[in-house]
Amino acid sequence: MADRPKIEVASDDEAEEADFLVCVRASEPSVFDDDLYDFCCKCSEKVRHRPHAPIVPKRICMVCAMAAMAEGEEPAEHCITETSLDEARRYLKRS
Ligand SMILES: [Zn+2]
Repeated sequence: MADRPKIEVASDDEAEEADFLVCVRASEPSVFDDDLYDFCCKCSEKVRHRPHAPIVPKRICMVCAMAAMAEGEEPAEHCITETSLDEARRYLKRS
């Protein structure tokens, strides 16, 4: 997958400077019980994110993010926070 974006690991503070927080739509099955909800800045669909997600970036659903990337609006950088990466590692170990 040569065109898959490279994901950098950012601190939680660095992630506050991101333009967007890519979220799953609330209609998708949930993995965690303590997710928080908001709305996509493009389509207003209800979305879900983790409680430790950055506060400042606009929420965008996966569908709109993928469409924006397909239209060449891909952001310069993609990142995951250290907290999210740690949580994902813990989750995958217990699965
Ligand atoms: Zn959307």
